[in-house]
Amino acid sequence: MNSPAWTGDHYITQPFGCTSLTVEPWWNIADCHWHCGVDVGMPVGTPLYAARAGKIANVAYAQLGLTALGTNQTDWYIHIDRAVTAVGHNVAKGELIAYSGNKVPSGGATTGPHLHFEVQTAAPPWYNRPPTSVDPSPILFPTYTFGTGTAGDADLTPEQDSLLRRCFNLLAVGNYDASLGVAADGYAKTQLLPRLTSLNTAVQGLQATVATLKTSGGTGDNTAVLAAIGTVTVALDELTVSVLAVKSVTDKIAAI
Ligand SMILES: [Zn+2]
Repeated sequence: MNSPAWTGDHYITQPFGCTSLTVEPWWNIADCHWHCGVDVGMPVGTPLYAARAGKIANVAYAQLGLTALGTNQTDWYIHIDRAVTAVGHNVAKGELIAYSGNKVPSGGATTGPHLHFEVQTAAPPWYNRPPTSVDPSPILFPTYTFGTGTAGDADLTPEQDSLLRRCFNLLAVGNYDASLGVAADGYAKTQLLPRLTSLNTAVQGLQATVATLKTSGGTGDNTAVLAAIGTVTVALDELTVSVLAVKSVTDKIAAI
């Protein structure tokens, strides 16, 4: 597996969760021995990079803990050969923080050089605690990157890119696609809002017309009322077109 957290392509030797390895802690809730992180086999000395930005919370023999910025989660890099940062340092995502190794924090042995990467919501220095362990896969193997930020970025499929543009264009915050005009108003403001206003005006017109007819004792011509109802109908039809346009996008989002 490739990851922003290390150099090279390496195999996962132990996934997160229930395991037959009795060396892992027993967890009553899961009714199994629980592997609190992901093991990835890699040669001693493989550069390790911060999977997330944060503050170094713990550095000790064979271990490094980094509390991710704005979270209560600490990313643990275990069995490391050495750290190249220190407690209290703020590190950026992708910054070199350690080299992998084959050491055990408690002084025991491993079955081979690997990185044990663990995400914990327990406060440092605690790790290897099943109830507070979090699956680290989304952090180690993100399914997308922010890319270069250029239009049509290859990080998104053409369908995803199109959907993202349509979502942006729905909002009254300007067009995502610069070719549609820089900071132009979005669909909600240019289409939905005027049609809602038209409907409101038409309904008020109908109320006024009915009130006039009422004042005349109900004996007057109802042509004006019928015309006002027609205006309301047209406004409703136009609003429906806009709402269906919005729905076509939200349906696609719901189908993801
Ligand atoms: Zn492990």
